[in-house]
Formats: sequence, structure tokens, C-alpha cells
Amino acid sequence: MKPPSVHAIIVAAGAGLRAGGGLPKQYRRVGGAPLLRHAVMRLQAHGGIDAISVVINPADRALYDAAVAGLGLGEPVAGGATRQQSVRHGLEALAASPPDLVLVHDAARAFVPDAMLDALLAALADNDGAVPALTVVDSLRRGDTHYRAAVDRDGLFRVQTPQAFRYAALLAAHRAAADGATDELAIAMAAGLNVAVTPGDERAFKVTEPQDFAKAEAMLSADSPTAYASRAASGFDVHRFGPGDHVWLCGVQIPHTHGLIGHSDADAGLHALTDALLGTISAGDIGDHFPPSDARWRGAASDQFLAHAATLVRAAGGIIDHVDVTLICERPKIGPHRAAMRQRIAAILGLALPQVSVKATTTEMLGFTGRSEGLAAQAMASVRLPLKD
Ligand code: MG
Repeated sequence: MKPPSVHAIIVAAGAGLRAGGGLPKQYRRVGGAPLLRHAVMRLQAHGGIDAISVVINPADRALYDAAVAGLGLGEPVAGGATRQQSVRHGLEALAASPPDLVLVHDAARAFVPDAMLDALLAALADNDGAVPALTVVDSLRRGDTHYRAAVDRDGLFRVQTPQAFRYAALLAAHRAAADGATDELAIAMAAGLNVAVTPGDERAFKVTEPQDFAKAEAMLSADSPTAYASRAASGFDVHRFGPGDHVWLCGVQIPHTHGLIGHSDADAGLHALTDALLGTISAGDIGDHFPPSDARWRGAASDQFLAHAATLVRAAGGIIDHVDVTLICERPKIGPHRAAMRQRIAAILGLALPQVSVKATTTEMLGFTGRSEGLAAQAMASVRLPLKD
């Protein structure tokens, strides 16, 4: 029998400003990548989820595109005015080719362990829905400025996401629901669905307050041997000067007395950086991926080489922490173009500006760069890769 198809909807349409940082929390970086990116990659890593769609505020489209670059997601779904409406939009977007099962998840819970997902999906064999929950261990009191009545914590749960349902049942429940539901559980219960409780996990905590980012950062820390291993690798490239009136360096076109000779656009800066990124995952060099013998790459813009290397790093679960390029030449002068180069590299790699460094040096008129016969570039990339067990 064919296993049921599973689709995950990640709701990322909220303003989420309570966590600070001046932008919606799902787009704030933790461990070098936006929170939303961690949430998507965590579900992709489980292996039992066939497809993921994300519901966003269309005004955040540029943030979304940068956050999920290279992860292979389709078009995002436009959210509504409330979380309930956003989930409804996400569900309706699947109606034309419905999955058997659906997970509804919050982007702010980015670190859901596999065991929690396994338990949710297993529970749907016998139930319309399943919701992860944790027991309450702290004592509870009701009150305002002073404590009032004690609240019995027996039978109380803290409910987490993702919440899992048979798709057709949840869609029908949403279509019948009144406004104002807090989550899928409330809507499912109102519709009389049978919903099981499965084990939650403290690691699936919701990033809400500013201090939660410090907690998430600690979980992803490079010093945490259980999470990631750091990798650094270098790249080096040389191109010869020839006739022409401009060069391409680090993705920026610079007027010059000469051009650079090469099969592609001869952007030594991007070529060195592409090799450095490929080095972090031991994936060979630029010539293996884009052979000079292939006519497709004649005169090609080198940003696509760099973007491809970044896609490979991210497909391996990698987080790019920092890149650094040094251009070695007497001319052209690099200083006036350095800011534009950093911006261009940041855009190609989906990084923030502080994660990109561009430097330049001469060789004191010595050697081939000193005689302006050619130009050299070296680069270093620092990446975190998940430890495989
Ligand atoms: Mg080259």
C-alpha cells in the first residue's frame, strides 16, 4: 500500500516584533540563518514530509526569498489578517491536489526533533488529528497584581506545533469554523474531530521574547559538538589581462584600460570564492562543475557559479557563516568598488553584509600581478555543517 502523502504548512505571516531586532522574528538570523530557514530545513531533514509550503505576508516577499534561497520551495502563499485566516489560505492552496495528511507549523518553532514528528504521523493512523503537548511542571496561580486562586495543574498541557491532521478533515473544519480560534486544535475540537495527544519536546520551544534568540543561538552554537561542525576552506584564481575596456570583479563591472581573458566573464574574485565554498563540502572545484570545454559557460556571468556552490552547501545542511575575498592587483583600484562588491556577494549568497568581507592588496610591483600581466584573487569561506551520526 502506498504511504500517505504528507504536506507541511509553515505559517510565517506574522509581524513578530515582540522578539526585537526590528524585523519579523521569522526573518531574524540565528546561527547565521533566518529562523524560517531553520524551520524549513528541520522539516526537510526528517525525510517523511513530501512537500512544504510557507504562508507569508506578501510585503515580506524579499525577506522570504532570501531566507529560503536554494531550499527548493515553490511559490509562497499569501497570508490573511489573522493566523487562522493564514492557515486557511495555506490549506485552500492545496485543495486542487490534496495531500493525505497535513502538518500545520509555526516558523518560530524551528527545532522540532524527529521523534516528535514520528509520533504525530503515527497517531494519524487511528485519529483525525494529533497535537504535541508537554505537561505543566511549575505551579500555577491566577491573579493580577497579587496572586489569587491556585490553579490545579493536573490534566493541563502546554500545546506545541506542528499539529497534524488528515487534510480533508482539517480543511472541512476550517471552512466551518468561526473566527477567533487560537490554533488548529481549537478548530478541530469545535468540528468534533478525534485528536490525540502526542509527546511534545522542550527543544520545540517557540521563539517569542528577545532572550529566546540567545537560547536558540546557544542550541546552534558552533561549540556545541552535538549540532554542527565548522569547516573553513580557501580558493585561489588568476586571470590574464588582455584587450578590453572593463573587468568583472566580485560581480561588479569596473571600467579599466584592459579586460581579463577567460572562458567565462573571468571574474577571479567570484571564482576563488566559488572554490572556497565548494571546498567546505569537499565537492571538487569550479572546473568540475562548470567545465571550460562546455560551450554553455562561454562568456557566462560568474554569479551563477557562486550561487550553485551555495546551493550545494545548503543542500548539505550547511550554514554559511562568513566569506572573505582578497583581490591582488596594482590596477584597477578596488577601494571605490568595495562596498558594491560586498553587497553583490551578499545578495548572491543570501547573506547579511557583515558576513561578507572584500579586501585588496598589491604585490609591490613584484611578480605577474606587479607587472600587471594578470590579476589574482584568494578567498576563504567558513561554513557550519550538521554532524551526521
Ligand atoms: Mg577563473
